[in-house]
Order: sequence, then structure tokens, then C-alpha cells
Amino acid sequence: MIETNCSLKPFNSFAIEAKTEQLFHLKNRTQFPELLVHIKQAIENNKPILILGGGSNILFCENFAGLIIKVELSGVEVTESESSYLLTVGAGENWHKLVTDCIEQGIDGLENLALIPGVVGAAPVQNIGAYGTEFKDACESVEYIDLDSGQLHTLSAEQCLFGYRDSIFKTPAFKNALITQVTLKLSKKWQPQSRYGALNNLKTDEQITAKQIYQSVCQIRSEKLPDPAKLGNAGSFFKNPVVNQDLADTLLALHPKMPNYPQADGKVKLAAGWLIDQASLKGHQIGGASVHQQQALVLINQGDATALDVVKLAGFVRDTVQQQFAVELQHEVRFIGAVGETNLSEVLKNV
Ligand SMILES: Cc1cc2nc3c(=O)[nH]c(=O)nc-3n(C[C@H](O)[C@H](O)[C@H](O)COP(=O)(O)OP(=O)(O)OC[C@H]3O[C@@H](n4cnc5c(N)ncnc54)[C@H](O)[C@@H]3O)c2cc1C
Repeated sequence: MIETNCSLKPFNSFAIEAKTEQLFHLKNRTQFPELLVHIKQAIENNKPILILGGGSNILFCENFAGLIIKVELSGVEVTESESSYLLTVGAGENWHKLVTDCIEQGIDGLENLALIPGVVGAAPVQNIGAYGTEFKDACESVEYIDLDSGQLHTLSAEQCLFGYRDSIFKTPAFKNALITQVTLKLSKKWQPQSRYGALNNLKTDEQITAKQIYQSVCQIRSEKLPDPAKLGNAGSFFKNPVVNQDLADTLLALHPKMPNYPQADGKVKLAAGWLIDQASLKGHQIGGASVHQQQALVLINQGDATALDVVKLAGFVRDTVQQQFAVELQHEVRFIGAVGETNLSEVLKNV
């Protein structure tokens, strides 16, 4: 079933009003032939195509002039060997529900990634990460359907080329790869990952359980991050910038307390939220959009923000940080224009 001229407000966690010409709900694999017919028509009519999960990492900058496929494929299959569990999960399953169900069934390893919004099929796209772990740590393989050919393919974790908030699925060659399911491998010899950030306060003795980490992560995140169901947002708006050592040294001489994380390649990762906070931008507002008072890295919709309000605010934050620290912030949130993916600089050119 395809809907036309449909509001996208319920389908993006920023709760920005925008419309799409067509919306297709992909609920099961028997719909593949029907979907491919709609794809063919869209291509013939020169219409853009967008794959959508839970809409929690997206900013609709304007109405979408094409076909959106909302991925709602369900199903979780668990098999086990002596040493590990293998979970094959439909791309439309809710990520946090999967983490919770695993913890309840004694399948450990995903607890650090609790409460990340969105669906399973989007997790490989930016290699979701939190509290010292990333999706790639549990990934065995990812299955996708090539929307051009209709063929199903499977990539091993290595072939997915996972990086910091990055994977092969963000490259132009994989623009039409719709992830259908992922397979996770979770070792039965579970090791806690609790040395990162706020989890440091947990006891690191042998007694610590995955459930305790899960509960701590849920508690910290609920206290720290605004709930998109109450206050529209897309989580961290910008990525943590990675700069060269010289710039990091210059900034550290001026700001000795600046958080900095040396990387294996000699570069240094900085905390985007700290830079925005130091630039006194917490609470800064443009129209109905503002920088969150407690979390400088999160831009929020105060209720009536337009996409343009968010875009202007993001531009102001990026430019202010650039002027004060000579650090260029890149947005983590995917910007979607009328004919497909765009970016902050492009959108600002037309304002
Ligand atoms: C409050 C909050 C906290 C957050 N915290 C974190 C965090 O700690 N760590 C983190 O990494 N992220 C975080 N995020 C960002 C977001 O939750 C993740 O990026 C999540 O994986 C997005 O899932 P989604 O289903 O909403 O994807 P969407 O926003 O719908 O899509 C994101 C991208 O993935 C593509 N995509 C979606 N599904 C598929 C598919 N089946 N096949 C191919 N491409 C697809 C889309 O085209 C789009 O480019 C947070 C967001 C919010 C709102």
C-alpha cells in the first residue's frame, strides 16, 4: 500500500512538519516485488527515493518530492553455539527493545547501546555507538536488497567498513542498498565495558552484570538527554571533531581542561558538546529551535520550529565554534532536501 501527499511529522524525532509525495510501508518480504515496481516508476519519473527507519537521525529540510520507503520488517531469530549467540533481526525492529529483550533473556553484550532511538536496520548505517562500544562490536553480517537490481546481498562486518559514525552504507555506491536484516554475534564469555565516561562510577569488580550496566546506561541517558517524544530532537547534532595534534596543542594551551582523546592515527578527538558549551551557546535560540540547556550537543524543537529555524541555528553554532576554536563541526544528523540528501552548507546557500 502506498500513501500519497503524506505528513512526515510523525516519522521524524525532530517533529518537523514536511510532506512526501509517496510513502511505502515495507512490512514484509512478500512486498519486495511490489516495492520494486514503485521504485521503477519513481526512477522513470525522475523522482528521488529515500529509505527511512525511525527518523531519529534525520532533518527534513523541505518537502520530499519523491518516494519514501519506511522499513518495518520484523522478526528476531536466535541460534546458539557453545561459545556465542547468533541473532538475526529484521531491519524494522526497534533497537532499544532488542537490547532490552536480550538483557532479559540473559544474552549480554548490547547493554551499552541501550536507549538509542531508531530501528535495527539503521544501526549499521552510522555504526551507532555509546559508552565505549559500537554496533560493529556485535555485528556479524548485514543483509540488504539492491533497489536497482532487486538482488539480495550479504556483507560481512569487515566488508561494511565501519568507522566512527560511518560505514559503507553512507557511500554513494550504496545509496540504493536497503538493509533488510542484520546478524549479531554475542559471546557467551561476556566482558563488561564500563570504563567509559559516566559508567566509570560503576564498580568494576567481578560481580558487575550486564543488567546493571544496562540500568545505569538507561538512567544516565534519561537524565541527560531530552526524550524526543516530549521535546523534538535528533540526539547529538554534530560529530565529535577529530583534529591534528598541532591544533589540539594550541587549544590545550589556551584551555587546559579541554577534553581530548588521542587517536591511533596521531590525531585527537575533541568533544563537540564541550566546544559549543564553551562558546556560551547553551540555550541559544533561533525561531522555535534552540541549543538544549543541559546538553549543548543537542538542538531541540521547542514545539513550533521549522526546518529553517534548525538549519539557521546549526549554521550559527558551526560558525561560532569555527571562529572561536578554528574547529570545523560536521553534522551527524542527515539533512534531507526535496530531491535527496544534502548538507548544512548547501541548504544555507539557498536561505
Ligand atoms: C535522543 C537521541 C539520542 C541518540 N543517541 C545516539 C547515540 O548515543 N549514538 C548514536 O550513534 N546515535 C544516537 N542517536 C541517533 C539515532 O538514534 C541513530 O542514528 C539511529 O541509528 C537512527 O535510527 P533510525 O531508525 O531513526 O534511522 P533514520 O533516522 O530513519 O535514518 C538514518 C539514516 O539511515 C538510513 N536508513 C535507515 N534505515 C535504513 C535501512 N533499513 N537501510 C538502509 N538505510 C537505512 C536513512 O536513509 C538515513 O540516512 C540518537 C538520537 C536521538 C533522537
